[in-house]
Amino acid sequence: MSATLFRGLVPWLVPYAAYLFDTAAGAGLRPRVTSVFRTRQDQARLWDRYQRGLSRLPAAPPGRSKHERGLAFDMTVQPPELAAAVGRLWQQMGGRWGGQRDPVHFEAPG
Ligand SMILES: [Zn+2]
Repeated sequence: MSATLFRGLVPWLVPYAAYLFDTAAGAGLRPRVTSVFRTRQDQARLWDRYQRGLSRLPAAPPGRSKHERGLAFDMTVQPPELAAAVGRLWQQMGGRWGGQRDPVHFEAPG
């Protein structure tokens, strides 16, 4: 059940995330969920790494990430070039995608 991969996400968002995951899996993209809910401390640690140039992916400052409110998740696909197609699907579903800058990031609208 892909829904269990999204523990920590707000409940209303879980079916959408699970649908995206299952669609990517069905297309053979081997999706992997790499981050869901983060505490403010988690986010502060990521922000610090990003500020020091130690992270390939961007991070929002603590208090500013939707991960801290259960409104975002990170998911990789293989090959990574197809992340844009998954991002477009998420956007068609009404969500926001991190784009080329943060291709693993999917979040709720608003
Ligand atoms: Zn993210």
